[in-house]
Amino acid sequence: MTAVELRYKRVILKITGEVLAGERQYGIDPATVTRFVEEIREVHELGCEIALVIGGGNILRGAEASDHGIDRASADYMGMLATVINSIALQDALEKIGVSTRVMSAIEMRQVAELYIRRRAVRHLEKGRVVIFAGGTGNPYFTTDTTASLRAMEVGAEVILKATKVRGVYDTDPLKNHGAKLFRELTHMEVLSKELKVMDATAISLCMDNKLPIIVFNVMERGNIRKVVSGQPIGTLVGVSDR
Ligand code: UDP
Repeated sequence: MTAVELRYKRVILKITGEVLAGERQYGIDPATVTRFVEEIREVHELGCEIALVIGGGNILRGAEASDHGIDRASADYMGMLATVINSIALQDALEKIGVSTRVMSAIEMRQVAELYIRRRAVRHLEKGRVVIFAGGTGNPYFTTDTTASLRAMEVGAEVILKATKVRGVYDTDPLKNHGAKLFRELTHMEVLSKELKVMDATAISLCMDNKLPIIVFNVMERGNIRKVVSGQPIGTLVGVSDR
């Protein structure tokens, strides 16, 4: 396949922390990370500019930690730091297989990551580096889904690819209900009005206001990242249909 066959030239790939945990309940599963980065390399070699936004839910989610008595803002900062741990794991795995990367953190952490500077991030992408956005937005009360929307707009990505453990967006939870119906296409407004579990409302609104499409797809199935960037109609497309 050549770069000409790419449907999207610059993408944000949002990875929920859970994906890095593989079959585990918690933490990072090295075998899963290795398989995952190989797929990223494959797409990168096609000429696709990729920026990753990584979550932290495999280590800590602010809202859950605050339920256990930690101040919400403190818990959220802990969550943002968890995303930095995941980012370093991904960077290490990508560099080991020869992919040039930069971790850019929204929270200054000079020893392990560059500080996020928009124009520098764009330059890294233009130079063919995989950029890993760490530290979320740098603000408590937000999520890494919102980070993905924000960064997508800032760096001019054409789409957000939301990597999950299920095939796309369903009307009910497919892990609990076998009869759950998969949506092939939705508008941003439908996601908001039906309260579908795609991304949080802040993230969806930002995408809607800026007409940015989102594709939700199953990253556990090998080859799916390549299929998505080459325009194959897998998963659920949120936005104006062009497929
Ligand atoms: N977080 C935050 N601000 C941000 C991004 C993340 O406070 O801009 C915190 C928040 O506590 C969140 C945690 O970091 O629960 C981990 O991120 P997220 O829940 O989005 O990870 P995911 O569910 O995608 O693994």
